[in-house]
Amino acid sequence: MTVEHNVRRRGWRVALGVSVLAAAVSLPAQQSVTETRDPKQTQDEDFAKAVKEWTTQPYFTSPLVDHLPKVTGIPMPKDVLGYHIGAPAKLTYYADILKYYKALAAATPRVQIETIGKSDEDRELVVVWISSDANIKNLKQNRDNLARIADPRGLSDAEVKRLIATTKPQYHLMGGLHSGETGPSEMLMELAYRLVTETSPLINGIRDNVIVSITPVADPDGRDRNVDWFYKTNQEMESAGAAGAAAGGAGATAGGAATAAQAPGGGRGAAPAPEAAGAGGRGGGAALPYWGKYVFHDNNRDIHLSQVSMRALADFYFTAFPPIMHDLHESLPLLYTYSGGPPQNPNLDPILFTELPFFANFELAQMTKYGMPGVYTHGFMDGWSPGYLGSVAYNHNGMMRMYETQSGSEPRPGAAGGRGRGAQGGENAEGDQPAAAGRGRGGRGAPPAGGGRGPQPPAAPTGRGGGQDREWYRGIAIPTGAAANFSRRNNTNYMQTGVLTGLQLTSMFPNLVIENFYKKTANSIEAGKNDPPHGYVIPVQRDMTRVATLVNLLRVQRIEVGEAKSGFKTSDGTFPAGSYVIKRDQPYGRLAKNLLEKQDYPDPNLRTYDDSGWTMGLASLTDVKEIKDKTILGVATTPVKEAVAKGKVTGSGSAGMAVAHFGSNNMIAFRYRLKNLPMKVADRAFKADGIEFPAGSFIVAPPADMAQVRAAVEEFGLTAAALSAAPSVASHDADAPRVAIYTSWSGTQEIGWVRFTFDKFGIPFDLIYKERVKKGNLKNDYDVIVMPTQNANSAAVFAPPAARPVPYKKDPRYKFVGMYGESDDITGGMGAAGVEAFQRFLDAGGTLVTMGAAVRFPTELGMARTVDAAANTTSNFYAPRPIVQAEVLRLDHPVFYGYTEKLMPVKYFAGPLMTVGEPDRSNVLARYVGGDDGVLSGLMRGADEVRDRPIAVDVPGGYSGKGRVVMFANNPIYRWQNHGEFNMVFNTLLNWNDMSVSAPTASTTAAGGDR
Ligand SMILES: [Zn+2]
Repeated sequence: MTVEHNVRRRGWRVALGVSVLAAAVSLPAQQSVTETRDPKQTQDEDFAKAVKEWTTQPYFTSPLVDHLPKVTGIPMPKDVLGYHIGAPAKLTYYADILKYYKALAAATPRVQIETIGKSDEDRELVVVWISSDANIKNLKQNRDNLARIADPRGLSDAEVKRLIATTKPQYHLMGGLHSGETGPSEMLMELAYRLVTETSPLINGIRDNVIVSITPVADPDGRDRNVDWFYKTNQEMESAGAAGAAAGGAGATAGGAATAAQAPGGGRGAAPAPEAAGAGGRGGGAALPYWGKYVFHDNNRDIHLSQVSMRALADFYFTAFPPIMHDLHESLPLLYTYSGGPPQNPNLDPILFTELPFFANFELAQMTKYGMPGVYTHGFMDGWSPGYLGSVAYNHNGMMRMYETQSGSEPRPGAAGGRGRGAQGGENAEGDQPAAAGRGRGGRGAPPAGGGRGPQPPAAPTGRGGGQDREWYRGIAIPTGAAANFSRRNNTNYMQTGVLTGLQLTSMFPNLVIENFYKKTANSIEAGKNDPPHGYVIPVQRDMTRVATLVNLLRVQRIEVGEAKSGFKTSDGTFPAGSYVIKRDQPYGRLAKNLLEKQDYPDPNLRTYDDSGWTMGLASLTDVKEIKDKTILGVATTPVKEAVAKGKVTGSGSAGMAVAHFGSNNMIAFRYRLKNLPMKVADRAFKADGIEFPAGSFIVAPPADMAQVRAAVEEFGLTAAALSAAPSVASHDADAPRVAIYTSWSGTQEIGWVRFTFDKFGIPFDLIYKERVKKGNLKNDYDVIVMPTQNANSAAVFAPPAARPVPYKKDPRYKFVGMYGESDDITGGMGAAGVEAFQRFLDAGGTLVTMGAAVRFPTELGMARTVDAAANTTSNFYAPRPIVQAEVLRLDHPVFYGYTEKLMPVKYFAGPLMTVGEPDRSNVLARYVGGDDGVLSGLMRGADEVRDRPIAVDVPGGYSGKGRVVMFANNPIYRWQNHGEFNMVFNTLLNWNDMSVSAPTASTTAAGGDR
């Protein structure tokens, strides 16, 4: 720090006292300013020159970002990174991004950095705060004020007015959630510097009236991997002497290796630039197989905030309560600003749906005024799901904002351009669609087996995402071909201009933002008092572990839950002491309703961007009662910080221990915790020491260490009895199998959710790829191979490798690729050698478990006898993952140990539709009920098409009479949501070689016609 700078800092501190006073007595003038520069301020000439050069058309910039002030003592990004933001062939590693923000914070009192946690790969997660000296000095007070507004119960009207008048809005910006969308994290560094240094009236207004906070990179693990991939690919192309030429074409030869679903880049075949998607798009057409540790693009679909980086950000939210969270993405030409189109969730305040277009339209108007083409709103994303990361804001009475900006590629001066991407953007070209294996997005793989965003055109009026005739929600049309040569700097220019404009509007109406935040919260509390249902009760029930999970997921969202101090009666039922009570007259009462109620989809003609139904009680197979009786608000409860399911052991016998299978997912955790301890599984129900033990219960016999068993029972919340005599029930060995999870190199996302779930329940596994499979001898290492939903049909399996191999391997120069597996060439399928290895695995007595689209692997490759999965839904069918009714046909079967009801809710994923021949009828364990009455939550259009279609099929001797194939057409492990279905898979693992213990009873019929 220089002497000169110290002097100036002192000067700021003197000024500060005055501005605090000023803020307290006068409201800011609500008048837009037009001056975007301070003529007295020195601008950095090098910056202006570079930016002009990298901006591929004069209209791809604005007067807000075509200059950057030079201030002695305050480092601009180039001073730390060595390049200006948007420089060709440059992307910044996370450590350098942090280095920049830390240097900035060290140089000015206007910036503070707060550590909020660690990523999966141990990177520091931070929030960067930026505002005026006075606002930063007053940060704690302002934060406290926002916390009071976020829960205004007990405040007088006068206090509310005072808080509205004296609290600055916090505007939180999030970059790099989708780490393959590399632009936002670059742009935010320049934005931070500009907000600190610029003295234009526009920036002064923002700095004085808004507190900006920034998540520099929401998924820093994925960031580093993408930056590695980017540099590695650049380097490979240079050494191949074919930079630019090779990549465009190679995508076509990459076979099944690159699915559009995974590669907001690989999937953008329309863009002629070699890496129109930023980092993800290179690599000869095969996409980087991993972003973060587990779930790739789905980190924005993590409704329960299960992933550590998402959880850290949510936990931060509840310390700061920013009324606005703005999530920055890349996928559409040229900039889309979210305005919350239909379907709009009825639990979100109508004020939100007026604020969103207010902001979006202002940005659209300003950017249009600056002459920037391709800016639009409305025609893309809706306001239905509460499951995005930014939803944390609107779920809690704030505002989620969102952009999709077109990714930047290298500037290509003089490039002819070709066709603009706008003509076909939107539905096809972007990467922000929910990804699911087998849906064939990007023109690969099998046609959609229904569900998701199948082949239909988007419903009106959502448009095609840009570049078409004038519509009320668009500014200037994109000149023909212009979008094809859109540089990284253009991307920064657009996004930064938009963000500055959103901040400008906030600075013009700071009190309005705060007032609305207050009003939406107050409305939520009032709604709970006035509108039934007034609450929800989760009664004491047989398996309390899933209850505890559900309660704790509500607690993650800071929904208040109480435990009833004594039994109580309402007109909706009588409940014992210890039942969990959620009263709706709380700040997040509407969120509780949204998560717990049935989703009534408002219009089957409207498409939605993500899930249509998520009802938590149905998803976790937990009894949740809606309470219309207002007396619920007066029930005496003890606040719950965290729910714990207490395990209990009755009896005091010494003849062993029986552990009841009441449907807890922790049964498998218990088994693997004690994996070296021999135990049995009861084939039938039995009674011992006053407890009814269902089939599937564990029996541990002496001389096992019973203290250890007891400790595990208690830890996992299970119910057990110390037996006075060994039970006489038939049983089989509970061999804890050696498990592998098979994944292709593309479409790793759904596999990631399964890996995450197995890790959570302590199920050990190896993650294997075609490389391991082709080596053969699978049964030497594994008893069960789980194939989560992925494109593993015959075409994918036999897809030839690309002409140019795409390695994914550790390399001293690129430390972050080659994690979670390595390959000399991630393109191409496992081929005949792989198929043969699976056949030999079954031959040797192994069990193969397939889910979702992966059922096509055994059905198309001769391992599933009479079962096929070739049928498809019609083009009318549309089912954005509702929850639907299933009928369990074989409750006696080990797959359904712990389940008690013939009807159960399941998450509808995307098919496929299975058909089972006569000889295998009795092997159908469960099927869809189908029809509109079978839709329990959310939307399924054409619900008759799934009627009686099998969900779960157990095929013994699927290949040459040996081994076993268990197929689930649903996705029984989906996004940490459907906890009620997990046990179908867990039971399969626990009984992998004993599935035949319960022959179907003669009366089991009706596997449903010839399906
Ligand atoms: Zn995205």
